[in-house]
Amino acid sequence: MPKIKIVLLIIIIGIFLGGCQVDDYYYDKSKINIVTTTAIIADLARNIGQEKVHVYELMGPGIDPHSYNATAGDIRKIQQADLVIFNGLHLEGKMEKVFSNLDKIDKNYLEIGAHYTMDELIYLEDQAVDPHIWFSVTLWKKAATLVCEKLQDMDPENFDYYLDNKNKYFTQLNELDLFIREEISKIPEQSRVLITAHDAFNYFGREYGFEVIGLQGLSSLDEAGIKRISELAEFIVKREIKAIYIENSVPVKTVQALQKAVLSRGFNVKIGGELYSDSLGNKNTIEGTYIGAYKANIIAIVGGLKDE
Ligand SMILES: [Zn+2]
Repeated sequence: MPKIKIVLLIIIIGIFLGGCQVDDYYYDKSKINIVTTTAIIADLARNIGQEKVHVYELMGPGIDPHSYNATAGDIRKIQQADLVIFNGLHLEGKMEKVFSNLDKIDKNYLEIGAHYTMDELIYLEDQAVDPHIWFSVTLWKKAATLVCEKLQDMDPENFDYYLDNKNKYFTQLNELDLFIREEISKIPEQSRVLITAHDAFNYFGREYGFEVIGLQGLSSLDEAGIKRISELAEFIVKREIKAIYIENSVPVKTVQALQKAVLSRGFNVKIGGELYSDSLGNKNTIEGTYIGAYKANIIAIVGGLKDE
């Protein structure tokens, strides 16, 4: 009988462990422990802090920051962190209560978006500020400086280490900027129109001379949605735009409906691929970094829009 009990116990433990989510979080006593909201910010913090920091992002690949709710585990990680970094500008719209508590618990934090001027930011029609600042390489360099200064404040002994890392990263960001400009020059000027599932690319558009149109707001094909799709379809036919783009945060069917509407007007528009917008690719892949994901986007955009 005891044997059966042991077997049962092993099975129960197995089921319990199997049901637990694997979480690679740990606190590293020898480093500055940073918790970030998005993977994009985590990648920035790793580039500036390198060996002196241990970075954990709350939102992994494919997670939409606009709709993300902090879990109890996230709150514990934030409480334990030496530094919390978030985008702000309402990107992490459902975490604002968590952020407003950071002062109360005397937590060291950096709200990146709070450091930009009104001229640097883009305001949408309804006066809402666009939070997707990382698609301006210029604005993201400023974010790199903010992270660098924060780490220098916290760890003045390694002041030059962080400065060096920042300067090296600036070189990489300048190369990225050049890559974007060179690639985009392959697209005829009148074809520089980016139509995507959600309104994430306005900073990209402003910086690199692209007309950017997002389908966001069309969560279902209601009357307004159908009107918008038909207007956009007319626009695509008139301008002879070759490709439109999907993202994982918005249902593919909306973009497909647009494609169909264009087709019914006798013009063929292809789906040019899936773009990284508010999150990066899988860890340990090239697209798991900001620079890698940005380049993948550019390759997809140029591949879809340039003349054959
Ligand atoms: Zn977004």
